[in-house]
Amino acid sequence: MNVYDGQRIAAMLKTRGMVETDNVADADLIILNTCAVREKATNKVYSALGRIRRAKKESALFGIVGCVARESGADAFKRIPELNFVLGPQSYHKLPEIIDNPDTKLLNIDLGGLEKFDELPQMTQTPLVAYIPVQEGCNHCCTYCIVPYTRGREISRPFNDVINDTINAANTGAIEICFLGQNVNGYQYIDENGTTYRLSDLIRAAAQLPEIQRIRFTSSYPTEMTDDLIEIFGTEKKLLPFLNMPIQSGSPRILKLMNRPDDLNAYKTIVEKLKRVRPDIQISSDFIVGFPDETDEDFAETLRIAREIKYINSYSFKYSPRPHTAAALMKNQISEQIKSVRLQKLDAQLNENQREFNMSCIGAEMLCLYESADKTGKNLVFRTPYMQQCIVAKPDQKIASMQKIKIIDANKSCLHGEIIKSE
Ligand code: SAH
Repeated sequence: MNVYDGQRIAAMLKTRGMVETDNVADADLIILNTCAVREKATNKVYSALGRIRRAKKESALFGIVGCVARESGADAFKRIPELNFVLGPQSYHKLPEIIDNPDTKLLNIDLGGLEKFDELPQMTQTPLVAYIPVQEGCNHCCTYCIVPYTRGREISRPFNDVINDTINAANTGAIEICFLGQNVNGYQYIDENGTTYRLSDLIRAAAQLPEIQRIRFTSSYPTEMTDDLIEIFGTEKKLLPFLNMPIQSGSPRILKLMNRPDDLNAYKTIVEKLKRVRPDIQISSDFIVGFPDETDEDFAETLRIAREIKYINSYSFKYSPRPHTAAALMKNQISEQIKSVRLQKLDAQLNENQREFNMSCIGAEMLCLYESADKTGKNLVFRTPYMQQCIVAKPDQKIASMQKIKIIDANKSCLHGEIIKSE
């Protein structure tokens, strides 16, 4: 979501004739696009702001956008008086106001809903992977999560708006579409004729565009994984055989405290149904360890589910108490030390899953999407249909963005392959 917001901000500034620089001392405008999901991310923002304050030109405008801006509000100006603007995740389209009025201070952390989508200029150039938001905000109230506060109530964008963005992305360079939403599979839009559109309808429409060769979406809420969506994994070959469906914990007791779906059998049934229609599908998850009151037994259940579902490509975090959330006020907060030990154990399991899956790919041929050159410049990095990184030696001739690659080696973190020459 933040990558998307960053791309839109950059595109908007380019239409005003601005160019990008990596050098803070050179910049006339410095924007920190921020995440508030965990405290560590928020702290990093303030240390970065301190560094920027010292390195920037006197005349340069600087400020923060995104969720830390929304969380801090006017306090941000108190902490860093030189800041020129503080704009929430739904008001960054107002950035030009500060460029036009550099002597003012701009604070806007309103929840504007979908307004920004109407205000932002269309992208004229899209990277190979296009992020397309289908909704703003989230109505699930997971007790640890600051997102409903920072991004507001869930609103699905009109079907035609999402499809227009998708067509524009296809026409301006995209090969892969990633539909985005905090609760992406809960997407639901009812038009003026009373027709209901779901995420499966968006996928079907995107798949009809010849330029688009891969489709994925993130992040999914388990109980929103309805049968129409499960079935489309069987019928739509452009949909990647890979699904991020966070479970967060393997303990029903902790899941209840998190206000998350706590029926593990229902979750496992969804995975089984997906495997039935798409036998090669792989699932990834996000996990939180050390949620308030989590015991060793609760944590053991998380390890067990991680092993059982054989999640690949997953994310794991130490629970971080956040303002405006119910869990921050719960009793029996877990010590940092216990959180660290549990995280290490879970990561060992997730790494083992990933290594096993990567090794099982050796010998396979996969259609992969080009991502970038590696640091040495001698190799190219591709993404497999499971979002693994696959490294190949850079060929002499120019190559297409999609390549069939034979996997020849693997380790925990990536695959190595050879481009299969087309006859
Ligand atoms: N709606 C998104 C949430 C984005 S946050 C989703 O369902 O994925 C991404 C991940 O950060 C969450 O899945 C969760 O694992 C983690 N997270 C959220 N709040 C957290 C907190 N307070 N402490 C630690 N991890 C958190």
